[in-house]
Amino acid sequence: MQYVIHFEISAAIILLVILGDYFRHKKIPTIQNKTYGWLLIFCFSGSVLNILTVLVAEIATKIPIVLLHILNASFLLATGISTVLFFIYTVALAGKLRKLHTAAVFFLLLPYLAEASYMLFTYVTKQVFYFDQMHQYQQGPMHWTLYLVYYLYGGSGFLWIILQRRKIGIRRTLLLAGTFLIISLFVVIQYYYPRYMLIGLSAAIPLMIYYHSIQNPYNQVDTLTGVYNRAVFVPYLKEFFESKIPFSVYVFALDDFKQINSIIGIKNGDILLKKVAQYFDQIIPNGNVFRLSGDQFAVITSGAIDKIESVEIHMRNFPKVWMIEETEIQLTSCVLGFNGLEYQTVGELLTTVDYAIVTAKKEGKSSCHLVDRTYKESSLLNKKVNEALIRAIEKDSIRVYYQPIVSRKENRVVAAEALVRLDDEVLGSIAPDLFIQIAEQNGLIIKIGELVLEKVCMFLKNNDIIKWNMDHIDVNLSVIQCMQENLEERIFSILDQYEIDPSMIDFEITESAAASFGMLEKNLQKIYQRGISFSLDDFGTGYANMEYIVRLPFDTIKLDKNLLWTSIESNSKTEFFKNITHFINNMGLSVICEGAETQEHIEYLEKAEIDCIQGYFYSPPLCEEDFIRFMNYFYEKKHTLS
Ligand code: C2E
Ligand code: MG
Ligand code: MG
Repeated sequence: MQYVIHFEISAAIILLVILGDYFRHKKIPTIQNKTYGWLLIFCFSGSVLNILTVLVAEIATKIPIVLLHILNASFLLATGISTVLFFIYTVALAGKLRKLHTAAVFFLLLPYLAEASYMLFTYVTKQVFYFDQMHQYQQGPMHWTLYLVYYLYGGSGFLWIILQRRKIGIRRTLLLAGTFLIISLFVVIQYYYPRYMLIGLSAAIPLMIYYHSIQNPYNQVDTLTGVYNRAVFVPYLKEFFESKIPFSVYVFALDDFKQINSIIGIKNGDILLKKVAQYFDQIIPNGNVFRLSGDQFAVITSGAIDKIESVEIHMRNFPKVWMIEETEIQLTSCVLGFNGLEYQTVGELLTTVDYAIVTAKKEGKSSCHLVDRTYKESSLLNKKVNEALIRAIEKDSIRVYYQPIVSRKENRVVAAEALVRLDDEVLGSIAPDLFIQIAEQNGLIIKIGELVLEKVCMFLKNNDIIKWNMDHIDVNLSVIQCMQENLEERIFSILDQYEIDPSMIDFEITESAAASFGMLEKNLQKIYQRGISFSLDDFGTGYANMEYIVRLPFDTIKLDKNLLWTSIESNSKTEFFKNITHFINNMGLSVICEGAETQEHIEYLEKAEIDCIQGYFYSPPLCEEDFIRFMNYFYEKKHTLS
């Protein structure tokens, strides 16, 4: 028979080009990537062997039959292995491979092993193929079994793709199913027209398609630093999870990288990141480095971390000075260690990683943690609260409670503090201290703060607080809100919408190290000029930074409830409170004390000459209806509040 080998030669060239490019690049060592590599090798070998069998057939009479036999059997075995590998590749794509037991793998390989052993004996039995007296290749009576094996694996692969379509994803399912159909079509043509050598092309076309759509090494690597990117971080983690092999993840979150970038410029910042990535590539043997985001890297390695020292050593060894174009750059990093198998799913681990990074950053530069169960629990709660916040914003179910602030001398409610409340259908009532902190981390506080202000404006529009002899409603303003360029515009657009007089609102602001003082001062002054007053909240808990009182336009200072409680507990003299009050009053500011719960608290504050009081002694925060009832009752009855 005169064979046509042109298709096979093209296939070998295509496979060689892909092979060269694929092995030239760095790839994450997943089963999927490894199987693809082996597929390229076996398909290319099969193609070359096929070409050789045809070339050799022309001079067959000069070649011993045993050699011809070995050559043809090798070609058929390589093709068989490629079929098995195609099947394994599809299973790996669905992320199921490590779940298969050894017995199952053996069972899966059985048809191929049977074919292989059958092939070894065919020299004697002449069942699959043989060589006639002219040394020409002849098909044996069982030659069709080769096709049976191809179809068995091909068919199972196809079925697997269909069954696992959800895991694989619709785009990949269509792509894989399509390529299986291409292979089957080629095999059918090959069966009916054995003169045309198409086996190589039937493999080269799918492998080329996979190379461009799934296996492209360019999609796996971060172009700037050359380490793996976040897109391959997740599948690699998944493989570890499914294999149940202990593994650990070290996360390096560089400190103040944005600031460094703005000092040395983006170009030098990029050079620095490249150097840092190269450093990570060397420090953990057998670890694979990933760039998770701009200034965060992770290294995955096998084995568990059993002591904090293993994490600390990476923090200590991290070079503190880096040279970029003869400039010394100071750089530090927070380091976190995670034991992978402590988590049930990749999602759980990733949530904890994000949460732990935020927590570590709060602690300051170069902080170092071996992240344990407590983090996991807090991060899960964090995630749930985050979801509850999104639900509440969508459903507009955030509510506002009002807590009266009383002047004892004037016997009136001078103001009320608006306090946000969140009752979630899943988590129930969530403490503001918890969800405000989370909302500040994820930026939802801006939306929540504006919703609260809107509700307060609505309340003011529907209720004449002047009638109750009240001065204003106090609204808490988060430091995150205060850092917005257009804060004034945003606030007044809400007030204007409800036609609220700015003097009806007082904003409470808590001292924060996170605030840029310049921006804070600029924003507060602009709003103050337009008639809204400000109170400094929770005084006595933070740094008690005097610059706040001197430079920012506060009219009132609110003493934190803990200051009152600890002063009473420690039997400290009322002089202390009195002095603070005098000091604040001398600056022309008024004082409110929070947290007065008992008669004893009231007497203590009276002796300290503090007049304005907020606390459960008078009333807890009340829902809108109860607060209106409370105010009407005291206003109408002229009931004494003291
Ligand atoms: P804060 O602004 O200092 O509000 C006072 C907190 O003390 C309120 O807690 C109030 O219920 C509580 N409190 C008042 N008197 C007493 C008392 O006699 N005994 C006790 N045990 N507690 C008393 P709440 O409502 O849980 O709010 C906690 C914090 O959440 C607030 O502290 C504030 O920082 C924040 N927050 C509440 N609502 C908002 C809001 O709308 N926006 C922002 N950004 N933060 C808010
Ligand atoms: Mg407050
Ligand atoms: Mg307070």
